[in-house]
Amino acid sequence: MNYPKIREIKEAIVSLFSPAYTSRFPNEPHTPYENYRGKPVVDDANCVGCETCANVCPPGAIKFVDDKEKKVRVITRDMGLCIFCGQCELHCITGKGVALSDKIFDLSAFNRESMIEKQEKELLVCQSCDAVITTREHYKYIHNVLGPKAFSNIINLNMLNERLQLASREDTEVEVLDHLKRKDMFNLICPNCLRQTLVKDLL
Ligand code: SF4
Ligand code: SF4
Repeated sequence: MNYPKIREIKEAIVSLFSPAYTSRFPNEPHTPYENYRGKPVVDDANCVGCETCANVCPPGAIKFVDDKEKKVRVITRDMGLCIFCGQCELHCITGKGVALSDKIFDLSAFNRESMIEKQEKELLVCQSCDAVITTREHYKYIHNVLGPKAFSNIINLNMLNERLQLASREDTEVEVLDHLKRKDMFNLICPNCLRQTLVKDLL
């Protein structure tokens, strides 16, 4: 016969008189511990719709659907599939687009559809080959990350000047002789066909 060890008897006696680790939720409110990995909460203002989180999400809870006709990217996050691993937060390119909450843990619902969250972002579509380039916010973000390197042509320099107000508008005014293009249009190179495409009011 195997007798219990002294250590096990001691642990059993201690646990008999110590408070329970579990709480009586939902009968009593529950406060998760610090750094608890709860619901991924999206900050739409800091999410640029780049698709990175969808590529690293192990169960495929994040999906991107591009509508080229409407020029809209629809991002859905299914909390019913989420395993709260935190990969989306870890790999978010802006570092602030999504973060796991250490407070929101009660995600039960009767309807699976109600657990799907939706975001929409404006798409940039190539005017030549109709390929999706990325979202306007993503492009803007890259532009800001590049910093001064992004302002490598006169149009971009004018936009920078407008933002920082280094010189008056009259000093930097350029007469536009080509009536097909405007000063506030940006030239992008389509990654699919490598042709130029125009984007208005990027900054
Ligand atoms: S926490 Fe993990 S499973 Fe949930 S959405 Fe983010 S990457 Fe996907
Ligand atoms: S990685 Fe970040 S910025 Fe990109 S779509 Fe996901 S949450 Fe948004």
